[in-house]
Amino acid sequence: MRSKKQFTIAANWKMYKSPNETEKFLKEFLPLQRGFSPKIQNIFFVPAMNLYVAANLLQSTNIFWGAQNIHFEVEGAFTGENSPKVLKEIGAQVCLVGHSERRSLFSETDEMCAKKIKAAQALGLVPMLCVGESLDERKSGQTFKVITEQLKKSLSLFDSTQKFSLAYEPVWAIGTGQVATSKEAGEAHLILRQALQEITKDAETTPILYGGSVKPENAQELANEEQIDGFLIGGASLKLESLAQISQVKI
Ligand code: PEP
Repeated sequence: MRSKKQFTIAANWKMYKSPNETEKFLKEFLPLQRGFSPKIQNIFFVPAMNLYVAANLLQSTNIFWGAQNIHFEVEGAFTGENSPKVLKEIGAQVCLVGHSERRSLFSETDEMCAKKIKAAQALGLVPMLCVGESLDERKSGQTFKVITEQLKKSLSLFDSTQKFSLAYEPVWAIGTGQVATSKEAGEAHLILRQALQEITKDAETTPILYGGSVKPENAQELANEEQIDGFLIGGASLKLESLAQISQVKI
């Protein structure tokens, strides 16, 4: 049995919450968080325009925060994009790469993910790469092939001496209320960890999070799964009570 020294609870707020709402939420969350197990690592991926609010409120806490997307260049003529260098300068520790909404709605490819991971690592940001299969891919038995390919291609420029984390997010479970069973998630996580073993000696300790309709009602069963090292949470992370409840899973 793998021992889990830490369990990550990462909130992906997508394009929800204003700076004022972010401030209110984090101010209410902080006193609750002090009561969570020291094994719980909370992370907030807030909308880009709220990053300064997160910076101000979280800088002297043990909560990590970061962006939902970065560009792979540090600066340049890239209208509307966010520089990883600026993200680092304002104090962020982490960033998401290749969320399925970025892939499907903004045409992000594995090749772009690879460059973003390289850029993040070069600046000392910890990238959290998202991979996951569609419903059709699952139904046609291609899940393991699809997620392994996404992983390998997205890590083609990876620096194995730097930190990295991974989120398995089946596309059919994101925002749908349909959650993978702990067996389905556990199998996918094991496949990803085995694939990681070919890429880094730190595969065993690389956090692999599950994402897809995690809620207080299903969190404990998923957390009990040996290969699941945390959650990436969309909808349920927008409410203080549900995020706090999920953050109290027993590890
Ligand atoms: C996500 O946005 O990464 C996600 C998993 O969303 P939800 O929890 O709403 O399915």
